[in-house]
Amino acid sequence: MRHRRPVIILAALLMITACSTVPITGRKQFTLLPDDQILAMSFEQYREFLKDHKLSRNANQTSLVKRVGKRIQGAVETYFRQHNMSGELKGYAWEFNLIEDKEVNAWCMPGGKVVVYSGILPVAQNENGLAVVVGHEIAHAVAGHGNERMSQMLVVQLGGMALNEALSQKPEQTRALWLTAFGVGAQLGALLPFSRLHESEADRLGLIFMAMAGYDPNGAVAFWQRMAQKSGGQPPEFLSTHPTDESRIQKIREAMPEAMTYYKKR
Ligand SMILES: [Zn+2]
Repeated sequence: MRHRRPVIILAALLMITACSTVPITGRKQFTLLPDDQILAMSFEQYREFLKDHKLSRNANQTSLVKRVGKRIQGAVETYFRQHNMSGELKGYAWEFNLIEDKEVNAWCMPGGKVVVYSGILPVAQNENGLAVVVGHEIAHAVAGHGNERMSQMLVVQLGGMALNEALSQKPEQTRALWLTAFGVGAQLGALLPFSRLHESEADRLGLIFMAMAGYDPNGAVAFWQRMAQKSGGQPPEFLSTHPTDESRIQKIREAMPEAMTYYKKR
């Protein structure tokens, strides 16, 4: 097993040198990808995705998605400004698009590139429900969850290769890792669940951002209950890291008093 040692040392070094901190929760995380590289790849992948997918022709629904997106964007920018963290949003080029796709899905790539699938609109039900979805996905992005997942996958699967090196040497594999890291691609009739930690962090931050945007965060409980109904109870076996619907809703209830202070402050 001697050959594994360099990888372990490399990973350990990276853990020390490449830590950043999640806003609001203050958790230290492992991210080895420089923001400019992440943003460049994000913008390219977003463009590619939109080329391959049909934008919704429903003008009302499209403007609803853009309105909710802009309001959450405003809340995030306000939060980061108030905490002297605006630098972390440098290079962001926010964009909100609704695509025609029956998947129950939505995601936000780094740099504020959001896609909502029309299939999630019946579950969102209304503007408040949509704010739950968009708030949650943007929270994943500004918390750097995708960067964290992508960093881990590059270490585990490509021996800690730098992103641009990986892209030039193993472009297909790197793109596949990217899409997995950011929740894009074929889903299972539900938002792609990541680790429990990332999910509960995104739930908590999402509640705060939606509250700051003027949406009652209490709507999140009903939304996730509808999602639970939609997925018909238990997630598949291989998604066992997915928080169960019950424990997620319980945690959301626990996070509610904190979120409500942001709602009332307005
Ligand atoms: Zn999530």
